[in-house]
Amino acid sequence: MLRRCSPIPVAVLILLALTTPTASADEIATESTRSQVPLGVVMLDGIAFPIVEEHPVAPTVLTPCANEIRLMAGTRLETVDIVIDPGHGGPETGSVGVGRLYERDLNLDVALLAEQELVDLGYSVTLTRRTDLHMPIRQRTSIASALAPRVFISIHHNGGAVRPSDDPGTETFHQVDNPDSKRLAGILYEELHETFSAYDVSWVDTVHQGASSRLKASGEDAYGVLRLAPEVTSVITEALYMSHSPEAKLMADPAVQAAEAAALARGIDRYLTTDDPGSGFRRSFVDPAMTGTGTGVGCVDPDYASWSEVTSAYDAVEHEALLVAAGRLGRSPDWMQRFGVRTLDFFSRLERRTSDVSRPSLRTPGTSGDVLVTSSWTGEERRVLQRVADLYEITEAEAQKLGAELMVLLAGRLG
Ligand SMILES: [Zn+2]
Repeated sequence: MLRRCSPIPVAVLILLALTTPTASADEIATESTRSQVPLGVVMLDGIAFPIVEEHPVAPTVLTPCANEIRLMAGTRLETVDIVIDPGHGGPETGSVGVGRLYERDLNLDVALLAEQELVDLGYSVTLTRRTDLHMPIRQRTSIASALAPRVFISIHHNGGAVRPSDDPGTETFHQVDNPDSKRLAGILYEELHETFSAYDVSWVDTVHQGASSRLKASGEDAYGVLRLAPEVTSVITEALYMSHSPEAKLMADPAVQAAEAAALARGIDRYLTTDDPGSGFRRSFVDPAMTGTGTGVGCVDPDYASWSEVTSAYDAVEHEALLVAAGRLGRSPDWMQRFGVRTLDFFSRLERRTSDVSRPSLRTPGTSGDVLVTSSWTGEERRVLQRVADLYEITEAEAQKLGAELMVLLAGRLG
């Protein structure tokens, strides 16, 4: 959340918001020709917005629902070593296990743990989603194409098998015509299979246990996540069967999720640093019964085009106090600024209704300092920030810092 960049003047933002075009059918039709060269992504509030076209002021990006907008806020990211896609999200729950364990949530938990493992190994990593977000398959592959990673994996957990098996029914799927994808799928199969084999539960599997390619009748990869970014080495992992109660109970254990994440990270590291061939390979197979999930039908975006950023400057002492207070509340410095501003706004509304509540007496914060803390605001939230700035007759950057200082004060009283 600590970033060194300057806020965009409000007047420019308003002007751009008024002039930002919405995507027409013609523009969508030209999308495939425009996104041939990886342009990177804009990161905003933990979300990756793939860039589809440059613009002198603000790039055209795809939102999580794959709509084109001009995005004024955010930080550019050109490339990473690894992109991890936690499968499903939002109304697309994926498989559902006993105890209402949803695949979309399990996929995300394992992805976040795998990210940490890979970062610890020295790799740069981006996730297609870090929250429970509805996102079509095409958006996930657009993020991968835009970042041109060395590895793209989509994490899933299976459903449906009933055939008893002596060992875990782990499946990995690779791109049919990509030897690198095949090798990666074989290594990931080895790591996952070995990791789960250490647990003593009853397993189920299908004839597809192992590393293979699932194809359409045309011979293309059946999975969009493998087909739509053919230039990126991509693999899908389906670790265990959530529909099978003993395996669902196993997967609900955070220690097992951590073990799976470590296995994925080890596999990716082996693929990138060795010539290991992988194993568990099976012949590709045609599956005409594939259902078309992940289309993103009904996906609705917030108004990302109205998001903007404000940066406040802290000196070393102020920043240390902010970090300590944020740690005490279990929040980020960015959250302290945003929540503090909303609290100041709350006090001011209270003050208008009752005469005996006085405005918190806070000094106007200093504006010098080397440490910059940036917060993202939606259009509506930013009006709250402006209201607080007007009330105290200070700038928005100062109001944001004033909010953080209120939170530091409150955290001190709690502690
Ligand atoms: Zn799935």
